[in-house]
Amino acid sequence: MRNMFVEIIDGTASIFKGLAVTGKNMFRRPVTIEYPFKKAAMTERFRGLVDLDPKKCIGCFQCVKICPTAALSLTTTMDPTTKSRTPKTFCFNGEICCFCGFCAEVCPVGAIGMNKRYEVAYFKRDAFSAIDLMRPEKYDHFGKTGVEKGHS
Ligand code: SF4
Ligand code: SF4
Repeated sequence: MRNMFVEIIDGTASIFKGLAVTGKNMFRRPVTIEYPFKKAAMTERFRGLVDLDPKKCIGCFQCVKICPTAALSLTTTMDPTTKSRTPKTFCFNGEICCFCGFCAEVCPVGAIGMNKRYEVAYFKRDAFSAIDLMRPEKYDHFGKTGVEKGHS
């Protein structure tokens, strides 16, 4: 008989505990968003896809040399008068990139960086494995995602 009373009291107390938690959270702002209709803003330090500003690149190959997975391939042309280099072709293989960000860190002129894209599913494999970094519209097939800051 005593056990039954203890169980009733415990059960009632736990109901009120549960109701207290519900009541506390009922008027809070939701922490979830209605993805894909609403999209989360990526943080400043988020590392998305490798992106390039070809006008800034001086063809020094430092990003290519430091890349641990050989995901970047670059060819350059040299101006015979000024001896300055510019990129001729610059290819990025997103399939083997480990998103370490070393290429962005080492670039002396800030020409290469990581954008904020996180929706990168597509129907063709080469949409991700053979990205021509020289083309401004290189990532348009993935659509606009996240907060595009810096390199987009
Ligand atoms: S993020 Fe890392 S793995 Fe990817 S291209 Fe840059 S250096 Fe290479
Ligand atoms: S490190 Fe920067 S400047 Fe040098 S080749 Fe790479 S992107 Fe161009």
